[in-house]
Amino acid sequence: MFKSSVFNLQEATADQVKEFLNSFDTVLSDCDGVLWINNSAIPGSAEAMNFFRKLGKRIFYVTNNSTKIRSDFAVKAQQLGFIAEPEEILSTAYLVAHYLKGIGFRKKVYLIGSNGIGDELKAVGIRHIGVGPDQVKQDFKSMNSSDLDPEVGAVVVGFDEHISYPKFMKAASYLANEQCLFVATNTDERFPKSSTVIIPGTGTLVRAVETCSERKALVLGKPHDYVRKFLESFGLDPARTLMIGDRCNTDIEFGVRCGFQTLLVMTGVTSPKDLERMRSDKKPPLPDVVLPKLGDILSLAS
Ligand SMILES: [Mg+2]
Repeated sequence: MFKSSVFNLQEATADQVKEFLNSFDTVLSDCDGVLWINNSAIPGSAEAMNFFRKLGKRIFYVTNNSTKIRSDFAVKAQQLGFIAEPEEILSTAYLVAHYLKGIGFRKKVYLIGSNGIGDELKAVGIRHIGVGPDQVKQDFKSMNSSDLDPEVGAVVVGFDEHISYPKFMKAASYLANEQCLFVATNTDERFPKSSTVIIPGTGTLVRAVETCSERKALVLGKPHDYVRKFLESFGLDPARTLMIGDRCNTDIEFGVRCGFQTLLVMTGVTSPKDLERMRSDKKPPLPDVVLPKLGDILSLAS
């Protein structure tokens, strides 16, 4: 109802707020930067999500974060006050396993990533190697073909705090075989900031592996197609679905591509300054509505 107008919901009349709340049946929410930052809930977010549920909306938590399995995400959400079930969590670790299983993949995965992806792969019977530190040797270029596993048929790249030069060498060497699949969870540049320290995101790793392998990854997370197709299997009505996010280039882009309504909150990556610049440049994707934080919906609705 506010198509790409960047309308500040705080300026809406009571009737407009009511109309807005009646305009969707399904709520998809990003997690980091909307619901929580690291292990701290953003004040009011749990109450807002639980309020949507109370109104009868169907809820999905749609995150590009690949570090946890769905049940661990659900536990984290519950501990922070959100009502959440594992089946409502759509994380990229799960999407990787779902994708590979769906295409009948039977070989081994070389995984640049964490146990979150590893455990989701294990749950669908797909073997993997690579999680954890890979020691950099004195002569960093030394690697033999015996260091490579001939059973590997896919390289998967997600968030990996142990990323290292040997990991890049192995990934590029596996990918030198054209038959080897190349899958990435997401291309987020950074984590939402909780201080002045910048934490590079998975996109940093994906671009590095793309560069050294001279190939392009199939990216499964927002704003790409696979997650849309996955959600379509639940029979969502795009026009009556609301996507909530803190990043224009993933969450809002994803919502716009899918024909969903979009709500941007300012508690994560996209700053008011970024938004103002995009707005004055008329640079898409622009959200339909904005709020300083998700919890602000509660005072508007009461
Ligand atoms: Mg986010």
